[in-house]
Amino acid sequence: MEADYRTQIARLYVRHPSSREHDTGGHPENATRLTAIEEALAERDWLGLELVEAPAADHEQLLRVHGAAHVESIEALSARGGGMIDLDTVASPGSWNAALHAAGGPVHATERLIADGGFAFCGLRPPGHHAERDRAMGFCLFNNVAVAAAHALETLGVGRVLVLDWDVHHGNGTEAIFHGSAAVLYASIHQSPLYPGTGAATDLGSGEGEGYTVNMPVPPGSGPDEFLSLVQHVVVPVAREWRPQLLCISAGYDAHREDPLADCELDDADYGDMVASMRELAEELDAPLLICLEGGYALGALSRSVVSTLEALSSGRPSRGAPAEPAAAYRGRLGRYWSSLAAAPS
Ligand SMILES: [Zn+2]
Repeated sequence: MEADYRTQIARLYVRHPSSREHDTGGHPENATRLTAIEEALAERDWLGLELVEAPAADHEQLLRVHGAAHVESIEALSARGGGMIDLDTVASPGSWNAALHAAGGPVHATERLIADGGFAFCGLRPPGHHAERDRAMGFCLFNNVAVAAAHALETLGVGRVLVLDWDVHHGNGTEAIFHGSAAVLYASIHQSPLYPGTGAATDLGSGEGEGYTVNMPVPPGSGPDEFLSLVQHVVVPVAREWRPQLLCISAGYDAHREDPLADCELDDADYGDMVASMRELAEELDAPLLICLEGGYALGALSRSVVSTLEALSSGRPSRGAPAEPAAAYRGRLGRYWSSLAAAPS
């Protein structure tokens, strides 16, 4: 992974036709989300990104983070025509194949990124961050970002993975899968109270993983100052101290002010600012950046915000600086684990 061996810096957009075959009917998490994103990107010639077809994940990859019975239950439910898994989560005949590619895309992208450096955006569905080891929930069947992180840890020589989850909902599945692990640091900015109800700031991980869960709940009405402050004054200093070798973002776009499912106040450009901060961090650490689409249900806001994300990555534009104050409470709580947070906010 020395720079000398890198023949190119990857700039990938990962997709697959099966993502459209996960048929959720009139559910807000439906295939028109990807249509909106891809139309907006196609108008801009995909910003020059390399389009990559997502391969299917194999069982070995899935079983690193999911129980065999859960994997088999999704396959069996799709095979018999689909149905409701819970009040929020549905499977159709195409869901099994879609879910395999939604998990396999991030796995493949991670292999490319560890070899070449750079960034990848996985525009695949169903989303993943609510899926637990043994349970589909919250529109999610398999935990795509967790499958990719586990693959990096077990096969690619990566020892430390940071997952920043800026979806407006807490990623209970990702948190639970790595709750006891010191190899994956899970950091989440999420509205509270809101579904699924997990993600208290006092939940810091367990066992060896204590201090490696960084929950940053924010109240309804929170906007760019809060989200960007937490990225710049909590996530970035912790990452500088811990030096992860792979940066992942669970990128939901439902903290947008237009989103119908939550009450936060981000705008298109704020996603560009957040990812610009992460890109600067990635360059500093010489670590690649894997981005997995999670939520986002206002189609215009979603597509514009994904474009903003990818423009910020492609252009290398700097982030605007966020005020330190919104992050102060979280820094105090985490300061006993991270010396960079014990110092006064900078
Ligand atoms: Zn969400």
